[in-house]
Amino acid sequence: MSLPAFRVARPKTVEEAVRVLSEWGPEAMVIAGGTDVVPNLQMRLFSPKLLLDVKSISALRGITIAGAGALRIGALTTLTEILAAPVVRRRYAVLASAVATIAGPLQRNMGTLGGNLCLETRCLWYNQSYFWRKSLGGCLKFPMPNAHAAHPETLCHVAPGGKRCWAVWSGDSAPALLTLEAEIEIASSRGARRLPLGEFYHNDGMNRIALGRDELLTAVHIPARTASRRGIYQKLRIRDSIDYPLAGVAVTLDVDREGICREARVAVAAVNPAPVLVREAGEQLVGQKYSPQLVEEIARAAFRTGKPLTTSASTPVYSREMLRVFTRRALENAWRQSNGGENSH
Ligand SMILES: Cc1cc2nc3c(=O)[nH]c(=O)nc-3n(C[C@H](O)[C@H](O)[C@H](O)COP(=O)(O)OP(=O)(O)OC[C@H]3O[C@@H](n4cnc5c(N)ncnc54)[C@H](O)[C@@H]3O)c2cc1C
Repeated sequence: MSLPAFRVARPKTVEEAVRVLSEWGPEAMVIAGGTDVVPNLQMRLFSPKLLLDVKSISALRGITIAGAGALRIGALTTLTEILAAPVVRRRYAVLASAVATIAGPLQRNMGTLGGNLCLETRCLWYNQSYFWRKSLGGCLKFPMPNAHAAHPETLCHVAPGGKRCWAVWSGDSAPALLTLEAEIEIASSRGARRLPLGEFYHNDGMNRIALGRDELLTAVHIPARTASRRGIYQKLRIRDSIDYPLAGVAVTLDVDREGICREARVAVAAVNPAPVLVREAGEQLVGQKYSPQLVEEIARAAFRTGKPLTTSASTPVYSREMLRVFTRRALENAWRQSNGGENSH
């Protein structure tokens, strides 16, 4: 499939980039590694007049460790660079385990953390060629004027009659970063701002992230206090190879020497239009020792947090059940590591 026509701007600084974004507004689109943007352009999911290629902005690259041990990861840092960083593997293992599951080596060499956090949401009925979508008359996310005048209930093929788009969040790093209480740094011509990652996602398949068209994601910050947590990411996909998640669960735990949980976070992805924290994990695990019943309760809470519909190759029933199974396995794994098992301090 060919690419549509567009112009390309290649700024060298963040200031230059945000100036171009504010001049072009919704007609511009940022491209970093391009592993998501390029196939989407080929399918004509959108046709920006200008691509803002940020790869020459060196200030967006690299991982720095602040005095207290907090991490700043530039938005342009590639997934391969994150995996190769000893500080990530040793202290923020949940992020390493999530990034290791993203696509294959080629995409990880090109794909960036910023691009991964800003991915388009995905749906069986949307991530298709223009011809395919047009022959179905479009959908909520890809409206075609007048196509549904006679049958407006068919506008969403997933939830007929619904007015909300259920295209799912299918990025793997976001749930891991949610369990690490990460914040993102955003720049625009109005200045810079920081936002907790949890507030970045709208849980709306059409309006997925809190990023204005004149804004650039510049970095991710992980606080030092989460470095002592044990964590792991588990992912369901059709092949155990290059594939977006059909369900994903990230877990981090901080357990003291007596085996009592001091902090816990569980986040699920690919089952809602946003990556979401499982509220009960923080509330019910803290102050408790391991027990199979407690772990099963949190696994059931993860099951309830995920609300998958038929947006992917998996059935909703199977994705939800796997959320429960993965949450149980991930919690048991993280608890085992904390109690002096593999990878312990
Ligand atoms: C075959 C295949 C399999 C894949 N499997 C997975 C998978 O298993 N898991 C997964 O998570 N992803 C997967 N991906 C998607 C992709 O490879 C990764 O998510 C990658 O990290 C995207 O980064 P990128 O730099 O290439 O993003 P791009 O394609 O450059 O951009 C993606 C989106 O982010 C925006 N963007 C990028 N950088 C910025 C920024 N700094 N500020 C503001 N907006 C920005 C772009 O405008 C675009 O909307 C797969 C892709 C392919 C082709």
